[in-house]
Amino acid sequence: MSREMRVVGGGLAGSEAALTLSRLGYPVELWEMRPSHPTDVHETDQFGELVCSNSLGSDALRDARGLLKEELRLLGSAMLQCADASRLPAGKAFAVDKGLFSKLVTQHIEEDPLITVRREEYRELDPSVPTIIATGPLSSPALLAELQGRLGRENLFFYDAIAPSVWAESVDTSLSFLSSRGGDAADYVNCPLTKEEYYAFVHELQTARQHLPETRGEQQYFEACLPVEEIARRGDDALRFGPMRPVGLKERPSDCFAVIQLRKENREGSVLGLVGFQTSLAISEQQRVFRMVPALRQASFVRYGLIHRNAFLRGPSVLTEDLQLRAFPHVWIAGQLCGVDGYMESSALGFVAALNAASFLGGFPRPAFSHETMIGLLVDYVTTECDDFQPTNANYGLVRIEASAKQKAVNREHFAANALKHILDIAAEVHTWRA
Ligand SMILES: Cc1cc2nc3c(=O)[nH]c(=O)nc-3n(C[C@H](O)[C@H](O)[C@H](O)COP(=O)(O)OP(=O)(O)OC[C@H]3O[C@@H](n4cnc5c(N)ncnc54)[C@H](O)[C@@H]3O)c2cc1C
Repeated sequence: MSREMRVVGGGLAGSEAALTLSRLGYPVELWEMRPSHPTDVHETDQFGELVCSNSLGSDALRDARGLLKEELRLLGSAMLQCADASRLPAGKAFAVDKGLFSKLVTQHIEEDPLITVRREEYRELDPSVPTIIATGPLSSPALLAELQGRLGRENLFFYDAIAPSVWAESVDTSLSFLSSRGGDAADYVNCPLTKEEYYAFVHELQTARQHLPETRGEQQYFEACLPVEEIARRGDDALRFGPMRPVGLKERPSDCFAVIQLRKENREGSVLGLVGFQTSLAISEQQRVFRMVPALRQASFVRYGLIHRNAFLRGPSVLTEDLQLRAFPHVWIAGQLCGVDGYMESSALGFVAALNAASFLGGFPRPAFSHETMIGLLVDYVTTECDDFQPTNANYGLVRIEASAKQKAVNREHFAANALKHILDIAAEVHTWRA
């Protein structure tokens, strides 16, 4: 097998993968279709372009995205090095100068003697060539059709609508009740609203401020996946006959006119998702409007809802735990296409795919990112079977808590300190590969 790797896509994940491989001594052919084939949101021909916000999230270790960045920093991630070099003062947030960031990434790639750039659209998979595909949420239609043909239509999604999730402990149990629609299982936490509360809530939803990404095309929603504010605008009663219908629920209060159902998002039940509540409301509006629901008045959000065009594979069905395609073992998937969401999350999975590919080609044992690291939790999430697979960003709700454990909430400081120890071990191991 040749040592040369092909990396497709010069965004966050692809640039990270290409630079990681070259630093390990592997020649890389990097395909990027811009500028001859632009996407709806990229504005330049630069590598590592940040398509929207210039924030990479918090820098604090007790925040999951802060820990993720520190893990990448210790591993020597090229994207993190460029981020550190283009950082802007922004309080507790880690913001960067977007132009400088992608300029640095581009410089690293263009000056790297082991990387050959091909400015071309990649349309057909050649499973005999070791390849990392990192074409992201705006992968070209031709490539998406190819992946659909090879992996099955049911394993590729084009739009992503995300509902918010909250910490279970922040939901008022005295104002909610457990029940499933039409069943005996008490799998859902139901947050009831009276008639007056319901119409007040709907009115605020109809008028709340949205935060839509800057896409050039017209925003189109799938009927099966409408944002909740869009349903509300179709009529005052649309929601109570839709996701908020109070039917089939045992033990509901007599004045219950509508409900919001919350469903467990992790094994331990510490994180609950608002079922059917995908939304494009601005974050401050999500806080304001959803906290109108009595049981959610003190709700603490783990993740906010969002909606944008987003191609992603159903990772658990098509990927091995090494991020390889089950059907094509010489092909790895990296970045947002795997089912993560976020700049640093995509970079992290670009890094992991590159290490896995290098260990495969070089005959080294694959470095084990355990569940005790944020990177390991992301890999675990995109490769572990679940009912309703949706992209995720880094969050402490991904941490596994033993059912028997006395402490139900994650001790973030402890988790972070332990994670960084694991990461240092992996960094030392990978360092020996370079020799
Ligand atoms: C509209 C929008 C806004 C977003 N805003 C944010 C945000 O503010 N903060 C955040 O953290 N995350 C955001 N994300 C989420 C996401 O994490 C980023 O999009 C991230 O850039 C994904 O990294 P990636 O490397 O997987 O894909 P990308 O960075 O998009 O890179 C993929 C690359 O592949 C190229 N490509 C595509 N198809 C082909 C092909 N067939 N052949 C060759 N090249 C190809 C593309 O031109 C692109 O350069 C946003 C996503 C979208 C869609």
